[in-house]
Amino acid sequence: MSSADSGELATEVAVVGGGIIGLCIAEALADAGLEVTLVEKSRIAAGASAGNAAGFAFSEVMPMASPATVRKAAGWFVDPTGPFAVVRGDLHRTAGWLLRFLFAARRATFDRSLQSLGALMQLEQQCLPLLLERAGLQHMVRETGALYLYQSRRALQRERADWERRRAHGTEFELLERSSLHALQDGLSERLVAAVHAPRFRMVTDPAAYCEALHARLSTLGVETVYAPVERLAADASGVSLQGGEGRLGRAERVVVAAGPWSARLAAGLGDRLPLVGERGYNTTFPRDAFASLERLMFFAEHGFVISPVASGIRVGGASEIADLERAPNFERARAMVRRARDLVPGLAECKGVEWMGMRPTTPDTVPIVGRARDSGRVVYACGHGHLGLTLASSTARLVADLVLGRSPAIELAALAPGRF
Ligand SMILES: Cc1cc2nc3c(=O)[nH]c(=O)nc-3n(C[C@H](O)[C@H](O)[C@H](O)COP(=O)(O)OP(=O)(O)OC[C@H]3O[C@@H](n4cnc5c(N)ncnc54)[C@H](O)[C@@H]3O)c2cc1C
Repeated sequence: MSSADSGELATEVAVVGGGIIGLCIAEALADAGLEVTLVEKSRIAAGASAGNAAGFAFSEVMPMASPATVRKAAGWFVDPTGPFAVVRGDLHRTAGWLLRFLFAARRATFDRSLQSLGALMQLEQQCLPLLLERAGLQHMVRETGALYLYQSRRALQRERADWERRRAHGTEFELLERSSLHALQDGLSERLVAAVHAPRFRMVTDPAAYCEALHARLSTLGVETVYAPVERLAADASGVSLQGGEGRLGRAERVVVAAGPWSARLAAGLGDRLPLVGERGYNTTFPRDAFASLERLMFFAEHGFVISPVASGIRVGGASEIADLERAPNFERARAMVRRARDLVPGLAECKGVEWMGMRPTTPDTVPIVGRARDSGRVVYACGHGHLGLTLASSTARLVADLVLGRSPAIELAALAPGRF
């Protein structure tokens, strides 16, 4: 970074947000030879990027805004600790997003979102190995496989069409009957009678450590990190000013907004309305020996939670809670998931865990936003990755680099455009 005489930030590209998306974007831009500064308001991976379930979920091409989710959510809505909940006291802030979500669940939008997520997943499978090689992080990503578990064959049958869609987008899987399931994974309740095994599913060893390793890679590329909140952006013909809480932070020729669910606030100052919600998820991380034999991620789709083995322990988490960004966490949700998990996985030992809440930056159609601000080509938004920020980070970085460097984008960007809503 070069600094103006006043000590203010003066850089070619400022990337706002040190989560997984901002880190990968900063890496791609610096690797392409640009002078990059990362601006983070608190610490690296302060948001959802540190505590997530660690899955490179290439199988998850199904948009969450779907006719099936709407059908199931009607039942979940009445259970305040169920897999999907809306905090009623915050409806004055979230109702607009919820209406858009319902609208996006219509078949035509669902099909379009499915195609967009499929294209992103394909691009990601090209970009991720390149990032891991450049950064020397291959050892942090393992092909663990994943199990999707069902309590009845009928529940699996209901999802057969979705599994065929996943197959059409390149996911390999096999169906397991009760005996082969229990032979593959111990510690499960006999009530789990069917499963889908996706053997190529990959996981990062630990999401927080991965973000730290990417941040270390940025230092080797000469990227400086400035710790300050960006409160406002103002773009003109020659660049973009970054305003902090205590005055001007500096200026950049271009700015990438990758501030997770907080991105909408910065966009609003530029006249763009990004319909993002902080879709809260919860988890509890137990010591690794609470379920020593678990090596793969397990999805409990009927209950909206996953159990994932990470370096720091066994993580039980998930759920979707639509609430205001400022609302305090309700850890009763994390405890409810642990109770359901213990019921279905008696192999998970009773012990104390660490509770966490993270806010997924989620759009109504559950497809990310990647594109330029309406009134300034100097500002690019990269946010709204919902449940898939870890999974789609390096493809997002590739697309942002295409925009910043004026290359033709690796995939069609219309479906990701900030103005599509
Ligand atoms: C329970 C749970 C499980 C999940 N599991 C998975 C999974 O297995 N696989 C997967 O792909 N995804 C998963 N996700 C989703 C994934 O974690 C998110 O999509 C991803 O972390 C979003 O990354 P981000 O960089 O966009 O946002 P964030 O991680 O929120 O990062 C944004 C950063 O910007 C900073 N910031 C905000 N405002 C400003 C400002 N004004 N100035 C400066 N800095 C600012 C914040 O401090 C933060 O560090 C999960 C999420 C949850 C909650």
